[in-house]
Amino acid sequence: MWIFIVLAFTSIANASPTVDTAVLRDHRDRYYLAPVELPLLDSKYYETEHFRVVSGKESTPLVREGDGNLKAANVLYHAEKSREFFATILNSDEVKNMEQVILRLDITNEYSPQGHFANDLYDPQFNNAVSVNGKIEKPIGATLPWMREIWFRPKKDILVADLMAQLSEDPIQTVMRDARHEFYPIQLDSAVKGVEYTLASVPFSTANLISSFLGICGSIATMEGVLLGIRIINKLSTPKWFYLETAMVPEIVHHEYSHIALSDYLAPNTSTPVIEGMADYFAAAIGNNPKLAEKIKAYSTAQSKDGKKPKFFKIEEEAMGAAQNDFVLSLLWGLRDIFGADRANHLVFDARKFLSTDKSSIRKGLTKALIRSCEANCTDVLTDTLRLHEYFQDRGL
Ligand SMILES: [Zn+2]
Repeated sequence: MWIFIVLAFTSIANASPTVDTAVLRDHRDRYYLAPVELPLLDSKYYETEHFRVVSGKESTPLVREGDGNLKAANVLYHAEKSREFFATILNSDEVKNMEQVILRLDITNEYSPQGHFANDLYDPQFNNAVSVNGKIEKPIGATLPWMREIWFRPKKDILVADLMAQLSEDPIQTVMRDARHEFYPIQLDSAVKGVEYTLASVPFSTANLISSFLGICGSIATMEGVLLGIRIINKLSTPKWFYLETAMVPEIVHHEYSHIALSDYLAPNTSTPVIEGMADYFAAAIGNNPKLAEKIKAYSTAQSKDGKKPKFFKIEEEAMGAAQNDFVLSLLWGLRDIFGADRANHLVFDARKFLSTDKSSIRKGLTKALIRSCEANCTDVLTDTLRLHEYFQDRGL
């Protein structure tokens, strides 16, 4: 039996809303299932004006039957919520005029820039999600070009022991390794006892599964949200197995949609700390969860032993993937203390215009882009750019 705590609504007009179920987070940072309204074009299909949910390699929208499909409803609800943020709060013309985005569930193919589903023979992918930016990709031969899509891979069990063995070899993941004490053993959430998933019966290698899982999240802070999400999405009562149903984690949908909204300047075809940190910033802003915000702040303020000094950017960490993403997230989030949430959102969003996917580093590219964004947007350019320079200096940049 579901416990309904809050009714959530999307604020999309002109469509007859269909009541479905999605995963929400309460103010104490716990996930729960709740009824949500979806602005479906036709109550028989998971399709809105802005998104079409499809399964596998299909192109037609997923049919809505009975009480609905939890994964389809969840990605659709959170994609609409993300879109609304960029269209309304950030007033993005690109997002407002964007063609329908495909939300593809349970797709195991490796992505190929050459066109539709070219990689049938590659190892299948599980436990992760990816954004596809159709506009820049060039099709070869008769295959169809990609439009904008977000792919959610199916889940697949990994032995927790294998995952943890991998993590202990990887110093970047120490925060996550520590976090496991908090989150393991995984408790079965009674609210989702009735939710059953079938496992794909495709052969796989543990190494691939683990690397695709570790590649999914921009930052450890997001990862913590994901770990919390496991409580609601893991149907197993023992801590022996682990999997990630990306379509069920709101933060992952927000993060992937943020890549789409930033893609007019930042094509999500490579993962760099700047790109991942930007997507994480907006995922956190869309979710607007005070607990998550506290955690992000904690990353930027409690890294040193005395717990008071802010985390400094260290050049020797330049190559440390996930740690860098965390730094970018906390650096951007800290702008809210200086400018307030709304101005910080605009400042960070417009910074994308001065960044490039491949070339922008944190020290040079990101700081310069934020200064330039301020020059274009700040009301008191002189004072505000000075505050930015001081802030960067305080952070060791
Ligand atoms: Zn990402």
